[in-house]
Amino acid sequence: MQPTSVRIGMMDSTRPGLVVTLAARHLGRWERLRRAFGRMVIVSTIALLVSNFMLLVVPAPHLHLCSLPLAIILGPLVAFLAWRQRVLLGATDIACARCGKPVAVPKDQPGWPVRMNCLHCGIMVELTHAAVSRD
Ligand SMILES: [Zn+2]
Repeated sequence: MQPTSVRIGMMDSTRPGLVVTLAARHLGRWERLRRAFGRMVIVSTIALLVSNFMLLVVPAPHLHLCSLPLAIILGPLVAFLAWRQRVLLGATDIACARCGKPVAVPKDQPGWPVRMNCLHCGIMVELTHAAVSRD
């Protein structure tokens, strides 16, 4: 865990947010690749098993025609989304950008950006890395 500057803002808002320092674990290149590969293997295996099991249970070729490409595409898509995660935030409470009430950040929340709903006013709170410009 490293102290990291994080900007607390509202989603789709250009208002400059409050910058706070939170504990975050920065993922290295190999760790990101390993996480992405692991998720691709898990998702691809389950999707291919379900797709082929459906062919045995429901003998409709249309289902297999649709589910097999879906199973092949789903694994790399999940891997790409996992590879984009650069940090894991630690569990903490932040102040909502609109109402100021505490919003809980769960442990190992991946970023960037980290998005969560404020339970009090319902807006989407967005945490971004403060060093990155949003232009
Ligand atoms: Zn709020």
